[in-house]
Amino acid sequence: MSHQSATDRHDLLVDGERRPPADGEYLTTRDPATGEAIAEVAAGTAEDVDAAVAVAREASPAWRDTDPVERGETVRRVAELVRENVEDLAELECLDQGKPLSQARSDVESAARYFAYYAGAADKLEGTSVPVGTGQVDYTVREPYGVSAQILPWNFPGNLFARGVAPALVAGNSVVVKPAPTTPLSALRLAELCHEAGVPAGAVNVVTGGGEPGAALTGHEGVDTVTFTGSVPTGQAVMKAAADTITPVTLELGGKNPAIVYPDADVEEAVEWVDTGIFTNAGQICSAADRAIVHESVYEEFVEGIVAAAESYQLGPGSEDPDMGPLNHADHQEKVLDYVDVGEREGATLATGGGVPDGMDEGYFVEPTVFTDVENDMRIAQEEVFGPVLAVIPYGDDEDPIELANDVQYGLVAGVFTQDVRRAMNATRRLEAGNVYVNKWFGDTNQTPFGGYKHSGIGREKGLAALDSYLQTKNVAVNLEQGGSDLPGA
Ligand code: NAD
Repeated sequence: MSHQSATDRHDLLVDGERRPPADGEYLTTRDPATGEAIAEVAAGTAEDVDAAVAVAREASPAWRDTDPVERGETVRRVAELVRENVEDLAELECLDQGKPLSQARSDVESAARYFAYYAGAADKLEGTSVPVGTGQVDYTVREPYGVSAQILPWNFPGNLFARGVAPALVAGNSVVVKPAPTTPLSALRLAELCHEAGVPAGAVNVVTGGGEPGAALTGHEGVDTVTFTGSVPTGQAVMKAAADTITPVTLELGGKNPAIVYPDADVEEAVEWVDTGIFTNAGQICSAADRAIVHESVYEEFVEGIVAAAESYQLGPGSEDPDMGPLNHADHQEKVLDYVDVGEREGATLATGGGVPDGMDEGYFVEPTVFTDVENDMRIAQEEVFGPVLAVIPYGDDEDPIELANDVQYGLVAGVFTQDVRRAMNATRRLEAGNVYVNKWFGDTNQTPFGGYKHSGIGREKGLAALDSYLQTKNVAVNLEQGGSDLPGA
């Protein structure tokens, strides 16, 4: 199967074929570094979703019943093909999303790793035997749901495709993927690679477009489980729509993640991790280190270090592999710049950044930005900015940094920097977050469960835990005795 170049017109990918959208409308995607149009992409509709779901339903029984060893080998071939195409995929992602080429490459390598990791699980999805006595054999089996809808955001488009599609497929589900409207290209290409590897055409479908196909998928009678990654308000809409059809949802939502720097921390090391944690991918990461909560005894040293780090960044188009690329789209740049205004109006100190770098107003660039003297109840400490904007919050001996850390609606990740093992372990216990890092940031890998407490989500992605989103448990009871009339629960 030949694939299209980034600049073509891109149709939907349903049943292994490119199809124009039902109403013939296309969206324009833009290079975030220049604002220039790069591609036209089908604006899928509810009618297109109906067609894709019907195809996925039809493909579902055969894929579910494929020998698990073969299913695993097929998914492993996807991993190999992704690895063979790392450079092309990274260039595509870099063009569409805006991120530096080396970060795009790392995302694609990690996408391959998801396929390889879950491939190995295909023949190990074991049930249990339940000891209910000699009169009955009782066991559980794990079965796929059927059709999995995957709704993706724009910050790690290809990587998050793999994060959801790999476990869904391995568990025996067919999928309909709805990428974000500004970053659809890697999903289309990855779906083609799935087909090339031998995944049946109808088992992986991509309906591009905006909110309409997303909403149509979440309320669809033919969809059996929904995996949504995106913002809290859209996640709430997804959950409400899924209630109508009693469809289970996995929600991977936003964060406002605290990094606590204790007085005994190695401050230089803490600066390095927070720098990576907030400025990678221009801060467009759900698990970014958004709030540094720093003890007053090391505050000055920390601020000096992080401001110097922020000021050292070279910005440029992702294709030139700079330290930081542009934000993904114009509306998002505006939103991030609005938050800079909010921070200043609230009385925080703008220690560095906060604007569009000189001579770079064609693309959607925002300087690495550090606010200091932030109070935890300010909007810039409570709301997800999703850009390269760090809020540094000082705390004194009379304050509990963990209370400050927990005092937000989110609970995705949290980090602590300290040399004291007891302090670290007590903090990990008390922090309200799905992932806690000690003396590092981005500690999660493809193998580790990832997901939010509180408003940051429901369910877990990554690791073996993710398979629970794609498998339901059936219990089987076999009577070994003639007759019998036990009441339920006996
Ligand atoms: P978004 O909520 O605006 O959109 C996400 C997806 O939902 C897009 O594909 C969009 O087209 C679709 N959509 C829009 N309206 C819909 C509707 N009514 N029903 C169903 N789908 C609909 O999010 P975004 O701006 O693309 O992404 C940024 C957000 O994603 C941030 O909040 C970030 O923290 C979060 N995120 C979370 C994780 C995680 O693993 N927890 C990972 C990446 C991003």
